[in-house]
Amino acid sequence: MTTMQLDAVSSTTRSSSSPLLPGATIGIFGSGQLGRMFTQAAQRMGYRVHLFSTDQASPTGQVADLQYSGAYEDLDAVADFARKVEVITFEFENVPLAAVDRAQQLVPVRPSPTVLKTVQHRVREKRFLQQIGITCTPFRAVSSESDLQEAVSELGCPAVLKTAEEGYDGKGQVRIDKAEDAVSAWKSIGSAEAILEGFIDFSCELSILAARGTDGAIATYGPIGNQHDQHILDVSTVPLPALAKVGPKAIEIARQIVTQLDVVGIICVEFFLTKDDQLFVNEIAPRPHNSGHLTIDAFVTSQFEQQVRTVCGMPLGTTVQTGPAAMANLLGDLWCDGEPNWQRVLQIPEIKLHLYGKESARPGRKMGHLTALADTAEEAERMVRQAREILTTR
Ligand code: AMP
Repeated sequence: MTTMQLDAVSSTTRSSSSPLLPGATIGIFGSGQLGRMFTQAAQRMGYRVHLFSTDQASPTGQVADLQYSGAYEDLDAVADFARKVEVITFEFENVPLAAVDRAQQLVPVRPSPTVLKTVQHRVREKRFLQQIGITCTPFRAVSSESDLQEAVSELGCPAVLKTAEEGYDGKGQVRIDKAEDAVSAWKSIGSAEAILEGFIDFSCELSILAARGTDGAIATYGPIGNQHDQHILDVSTVPLPALAKVGPKAIEIARQIVTQLDVVGIICVEFFLTKDDQLFVNEIAPRPHNSGHLTIDAFVTSQFEQQVRTVCGMPLGTTVQTGPAAMANLLGDLWCDGEPNWQRVLQIPEIKLHLYGKESARPGRKMGHLTALADTAEEAERMVRQAREILTTR
């Protein structure tokens, strides 16, 4: 990262229709690992990336060409940042709307603030899905204890209570197994706005990534099979023969969502699949997704390169898969007895190591991931799990 003075970008490069060629400067909101991998993809293609963040030495800040230090609430700072880049994207959905709206007055924001507004609030997101006729988990909007009691009696138990905003990786959500638990559940999430969802007894979880360009062209990845542990994504695998049957339907739903939302960028649609092959959309992420990290090593165009291409108005890259793959997250828990055994894991030639540069390891914190490449997806999954176990051997 450098601290050079920012130069103003000429107004001729700001047209939202002309593609931004390598050499252009992309701004990003959000400073985590998704921003880091986006930045690495952008820089490989010759773009510059400016980060807007107050975090010091963040995963994105360590690699960005320049960090503009500011708070989202400071709309003048947001405007200063926006004036010096040619397009803005984001790597997390909780960027305050006022900040993206201000930025959009000066420079294209992709995906648009309208997309962000829909998907950063679980009730708005589910209403949108209903409106376009897509099956999602049954739900009720809840904004008081009495709303919750009524919703529990309508949807039945078990059900899942979630904060309408800000929740991720199972944070801000609680399962309600019997109606009497509603009061304690309401207190535990401590939220003014929430959603109650019917519990889906799924046989597995899967995701589809869908990228859409400024010309409306769409490219998809998946279905990717996802296994969670304690609500956090644990292992992703692709292609899974068990998902071949529902794949076309899931892809069609993701295409419909990315089109109806008028996304320019990449989204991830997460699904529950039941034993009788019913698909329920769980949620939409308006950005690259943890389940798509294996696209870096196992697809011709990674989800991050696709984000670069879409936000810069360039043609999409092919989403052809080069071979079966599985990804395992490396959480901070792996560090509890000291530094993981990198030496041994790097002796396995089919394993790719990705670390995000986070200085302190905490339980549940995503520190990096491993990707295994093999002849079959099942073999890749076996290898990636084994490699992760090796990390804690001395
Ligand atoms: P979320 O943050 O909504 O993606 O939820 C995290 C995880 O909790 C999901 O990946 C599921 O494993 C589980 N979960 C969330 N909502 C439901 C639901 N309505 N029914 C069953 N499991 C759920």
